[in-house]
Amino acid sequence: MSLADYFFIATLLLTAAAAVWLTDAARVLFRYRGKMLFTCPETGKSACVKVAAADAARSSLVGRPKIHLSECSRWPERQNCGQECLSQLGADPQNCLVWTKVSDWYRGRTCVYCHKPFSALHWHDHKPALLGPDRKTVEWSEVPADKLPELFETHLPVCWSCHIAETFRREHPERVVERPGNRGPMGELLTEHKKDRIASTIGHT
Ligand SMILES: [Zn+2]
Repeated sequence: MSLADYFFIATLLLTAAAAVWLTDAARVLFRYRGKMLFTCPETGKSACVKVAAADAARSSLVGRPKIHLSECSRWPERQNCGQECLSQLGADPQNCLVWTKVSDWYRGRTCVYCHKPFSALHWHDHKPALLGPDRKTVEWSEVPADKLPELFETHLPVCWSCHIAETFRREHPERVVERPGNRGPMGELLTEHKKDRIASTIGHT
């Protein structure tokens, strides 16, 4: 082999090593990117945080990735906390993503109005909404992320189409004809089964 061949092979090996090195850094970047929900160890309530994913990826080039937060819904007041919440990242930080938690909540549930089941959420789809005890619907992405876990306890799932229709109905009641007996206490549409149940409850009181 000539000197040029050796040089060529050395260049190839170096390029391959650099590609592996950068791929690992990219993997770290993707692993920690996105808004996440943690339980704040100080308050026991949800906090919306972001891990400094770029810093983690950069530090992974020279050793173990250094993990710290770049944003928290409790900042700036608690900016100097010990960031003990980071222990909640676990084996798969993607489980902490707001997106994952929202998607998990909707999946398997059905729209309270049209009863259409929700499948996995996609970023390009219209966002589904939540129906509150005040009978107002709101897209989940319009709610501060750290409030979502609380709302999941008190609100009902609504698909985007019904959210639009119900918003119109609420804002322009004069243009909508109501059929009485079709709605439950939160304004949701009732199935025949639920109507029977409510009728029997009323019958017993
Ligand atoms: Zn619906």
